[in-house]
Amino acid sequence: MSAVAFVGLGNMGAPMAANLVTAGHRVTGFDLVPDALAKAAETGVHAAGSADEAVADAELVITMLPSGRHLLTAYNGVDAEGNGPGGTGLLAAARPGTLFVDCSTVDVADARTANAAAVAAGHRAVDAPVSGGVVGATAATLTFMVGAEAADFTDVEQVLSSMGRKVVHCGGPGGGQAAKICNNMVLGASMIAVSEAFVLGERLGLTHQALYDVVSTASGQCWSLTTNCPVPGPVPTSPANRDYKPGFAASLMAKDLGLAANALRDTGVEAQIGLHAARIYTAFAEELDAERDFSAIVNAIRERSGKPDEASGDAS
Ligand code: NAD
Repeated sequence: MSAVAFVGLGNMGAPMAANLVTAGHRVTGFDLVPDALAKAAETGVHAAGSADEAVADAELVITMLPSGRHLLTAYNGVDAEGNGPGGTGLLAAARPGTLFVDCSTVDVADARTANAAAVAAGHRAVDAPVSGGVVGATAATLTFMVGAEAADFTDVEQVLSSMGRKVVHCGGPGGGQAAKICNNMVLGASMIAVSEAFVLGERLGLTHQALYDVVSTASGQCWSLTTNCPVPGPVPTSPANRDYKPGFAASLMAKDLGLAANALRDTGVEAQIGLHAARIYTAFAEELDAERDFSAIVNAIRERSGKPDEASGDAS
């Protein structure tokens, strides 16, 4: 059993913290939103009065925050403009030698900055973003992608295993975030490709089920089709069957593809599909359906394609 502080008890953080409690850890939590903190307390998390109080006696501090800006502000107490939520910041409030584990999805550069700040403050730090969504966070079946020094990975592996099914050491600091944005670049592009294929199949007279039965057992098979199928019917558990309630919100996909686009720019990699997917999801999230599951992109493709007779130019 470890004394764990959990900061950021939102859609992902709350069920993750609850699974740590179930595994026998003593978890002290904090969230800026009182309602989120109260809900976590119902699952056995000790509610702290502030972020500083939550980490004061912790051996391990887990953060699950919206973005790199939130992470750096929480670590340092203030953002680049000197504004902050109050308190000294997590790095100053924790005991020297505390192990900081950031599970948020953030920019690779922000992850490395956060790591360096933690080490400069006398702590140890790893990045450990997740895949698996709220369903995986609740069922403790997440995949953790860990960027860490070897000794830190050993120390964190068991705790992460209480919240997930797979814990992969991806290399040194920032390595976890690098793996996460590469995965989500594949995911965004594959969902667009699968959705385009369904709309084309509709126009060519194929039923969704027939196209699914072929592609799911042929060379086009992928997670976007067989688990998160963007049309209702073939995969009854996919968000398309419940009016595209997430799942994985389009706004989060737009965010992750934006992080991939930043990394492409920083590294000079010419990834035309990845950049185009980022533009498509940014427009979709801003103009249409930010809180729908990202598979709702199929509806935008269908709408953009006009009516079948307009598309074919057939006025009869
Ligand atoms: P969320 O917005 O539901 O939760 C974030 C929480 O952090 C909020 O409750 C907010 O009040 C709190 N917070 C922000 N700043 C804080 C501070 N300084 N101190 C304390 N609390 C603070 O977001 P989420 O869906 O739980 O996602 C969290 C992270 O996980 C994001 O980086 C996201 O990209 C990533 N992620 C989400 C999913 C998903 O399906 N939701 C899947 C994989 C990864």
